[in-house]
Amino acid sequence: MMDCDVQSGLMPFDQALASLLSKVETISETEDVPLCDALAQVNFQTIVSPINVPSFDHSAMDGYALRCADLEKQSHLTQVGHAYAGKPFDKKLEPGQCVRIMTGAIIPDGADTVVMQENTHKSRELDSSIEFLNQPALGENIRRAGNDFKAGSIILHPGQRLSVADVGLLASLGLSSVVIHRRLKVAVFSTGDELKAPGESLALGEIYDSNRFTTLSLLKKLAIETLDMGILPDDQQEITKALLRASEWADVIITSGGVSVGDADYIKQVLQEHGSLELWKIAMKPGKPFAYGQIGGAHFIGLPGNPVSALVTLHQLAVPMLRKFQGEAYEPEQMLPATTLSDIKKRPGRRDFQRGMMFYDATGELVVRSVGNQNSGVLSSMAKANCFIVLPAAQASLSSGEKVMVQPFSDLLN
Ligand code: AMP
Ligand code: MG
Repeated sequence: MMDCDVQSGLMPFDQALASLLSKVETISETEDVPLCDALAQVNFQTIVSPINVPSFDHSAMDGYALRCADLEKQSHLTQVGHAYAGKPFDKKLEPGQCVRIMTGAIIPDGADTVVMQENTHKSRELDSSIEFLNQPALGENIRRAGNDFKAGSIILHPGQRLSVADVGLLASLGLSSVVIHRRLKVAVFSTGDELKAPGESLALGEIYDSNRFTTLSLLKKLAIETLDMGILPDDQQEITKALLRASEWADVIITSGGVSVGDADYIKQVLQEHGSLELWKIAMKPGKPFAYGQIGGAHFIGLPGNPVSALVTLHQLAVPMLRKFQGEAYEPEQMLPATTLSDIKKRPGRRDFQRGMMFYDATGELVVRSVGNQNSGVLSSMAKANCFIVLPAAQASLSSGEKVMVQPFSDLLN
């Protein structure tokens, strides 16, 4: 999506995103982490399987291992032993014989087929004569060595964010740890004299701080090491001290609030005096007063104060930058065409990220309904939605029945 007709004084969304991405290089340090800490971390090395998985032919069923050709001549075979997972039958199977076998047990030497228990019959429990009710196919119910993957095959690529299944794959190779790009360290502040931490009591005019919790929660999904720095007052000196202190530890500092043009919005001044302010005011809605800069050697991201604006700018602008910083080979979020069931109000000039509920209607067409109140302070609009309705800057209001682009909420927002 390209934005033209952008409101003057604002930076087009795509330009802001490209500029943010150009500010970071992938973190070069690595960490070797145990598998139980590997989820959502970014893989650093090409992982090649040192072994076949599984490493031996084994039974996929509970049943009997036998020679398939035997059953063309006779329907009864003599059971000569057991094969359990981890406890093999250690003799050779001779013609006319079968072995009771459990799922996961190695196929005995001489056997070429497994017949599932349900297709057999035994007249008495202690009987060693087993009746086979039908002719199996050769090789039936055997999982072959290397069936999951072969020794030497590539299992994971560098830059892959490790999923639940990836962690399982690493374990099945016998690896107890994995080398990842070092965890990013991000310090998170809220700013505003009106803010109280949840759990405290509110005086007149005060509100609870929610941005710190949405921000910290989303960063947790990216497996980032976070530091909750609490609430800063609207005081230039206090803000300066706190940001400089945080920059000693953090790769990135994220604040919310205080980046607008009001009398108590000090963040810009602090950056200009003690670091740099490199990006400010983006042609997007919600979220115009987003700021990027640097302070004390750390990257600085200033999110707007309004809770929806904070979360949308974090997701749309800061997250791509953080992912690149983490080393993830990252694909932009997918957008899908849908028909709007609601009239949509919009003024040209900024790219809108309205909140919607998308679904397939009875005819299988993708449709989207606005969740209603699109005010940037109304966090429940995010909680009710499952997608963004993304409207280019030049777009004006739309009527129901028109086509729009939707961006399904990524797992980061769930
Ligand atoms: P600001 O950008 O500081 O002017 O804040 C814009 C609006 O967002 C104001 O109504 C603030 O009270 C509100 N706000 C700022 N920070 C937070 C926060 N951490 N949690 C909830 N609301 C906030
Ligand atoms: Mg404020």
